[in-house]
Amino acid sequence: MSSGSAVATHAHNDEFNPFLSMQKGFDTAADHLGLEQGVRKVLSMPDRELTVNVPVLMDNGKVEVFTGHRVQHNTLRGPSKGGIRFSPDVDIDEVRALAAWMTWKCSVVNVPFGGGKGGVICDPRSMSIGEQERLTRRYTTAILDIIGPDRDVPAPDMNTNEQTMAWIMDTYSMHERKTSTAVVTGKPLSIGGSRGRLEATGRGVMISANEALKMIGLRPEDTRVVVQGAGNVGGLGAMLLHREGYRITSISDMYGYIVNERGLDMPAVLNHLREKRTLEGFDGADYSTDGKAQLELDCELLVPAATENQITTENVDRIKARLIVEGANGPTTAAASEALSKRGVTVVPDILANAGGVTVSYFEWVQDRMGYFWTEEIVNSRLEQIMVQAFAEVRQTSEKFGVDLRTGAYILSIGRVASVYRMRGIFS
Ligand code: GLU
Repeated sequence: MSSGSAVATHAHNDEFNPFLSMQKGFDTAADHLGLEQGVRKVLSMPDRELTVNVPVLMDNGKVEVFTGHRVQHNTLRGPSKGGIRFSPDVDIDEVRALAAWMTWKCSVVNVPFGGGKGGVICDPRSMSIGEQERLTRRYTTAILDIIGPDRDVPAPDMNTNEQTMAWIMDTYSMHERKTSTAVVTGKPLSIGGSRGRLEATGRGVMISANEALKMIGLRPEDTRVVVQGAGNVGGLGAMLLHREGYRITSISDMYGYIVNERGLDMPAVLNHLREKRTLEGFDGADYSTDGKAQLELDCELLVPAATENQITTENVDRIKARLIVEGANGPTTAAASEALSKRGVTVVPDILANAGGVTVSYFEWVQDRMGYFWTEEIVNSRLEQIMVQAFAEVRQTSEKFGVDLRTGAYILSIGRVASVYRMRGIFS
């Protein structure tokens, strides 16, 4: 399955700079909390950034050099945690924002991690498996000194998967001269992965949607859902929502979208996608390549689960959903978020809605360190417990401060990190 974007990003404009968007959310929350100058300064900058240029022998016998980053935003609450993405669009400001969002995300669900993120500028679709493996191993070697089970624990993100994590785990273990499974999460089950991790982000999206529905008084069967993205988050999230009784009326991949007002048969859609690698040609639905129009379809719930900067000042006025559950990181720009809030659209923000993935990553890390593995029922019920509690705490915080859920989530998470900072003090 692919997890691409149907709508182009616009890195030239401030609205579309994810780091500035993150910073805006941070500043608003910091103002509400009356955060003192020192904490504010510390938390608004990443702790550490590493940029590497790694040579890879390509299948044609030539050497290519790829640029990658690993940013550790913060480690106050524990090792930094966050995915590694492979994409031609990767840039340092994006990785910085994603790393900071991981700090807030881990804090929202109260798992003992800080935040980090990695990215390599490459187009995996145009690379062979061998080239991807050599790139992954060489990038891992280049960032080896700063990762580790107690330092910084990567995971899958856009265009990386279980196989990528297996290569990272193996490369790290070869250097350590011992098998070290807890250095990454999102691994295959056979090498220390966790049951339920693959679908965890989608499951968290479903749990968030259920909680949000209760809050605004809607029932799943009366909820038409438009899902942007058919990868690990969008595809599996749509499948779980479908099983829960929601009516999925549209889903997209990076090439186009399908729509059927009566509801899509999600298992059939995912089978088609697996076989054909495109949604085009799916029986029983109309197909369009106009990705922008998909977000503006009539529906109750919109789940952007592809990439950043999809809901912007350019299209926000035409969005019809009354509820948005953010499966992707940063799908709504700060300006668009404000507009939605003013219009009374409920937005369950990314740092809460897609936190199911990192929550089960935490379970995986714990299981690896214990060498004792849990059943899928235990994983899923602990995930549900954490997500439901986080949702309730975000809601209470937003009600207490009279702000939207996004600002509530930032206030809750930044407040937690700030209190650790005060308790630990500054080492000098
Ligand atoms: N890449 C995922 C995210 O953005 C998962 C991170 C993790 O499990 O560490 O939340």
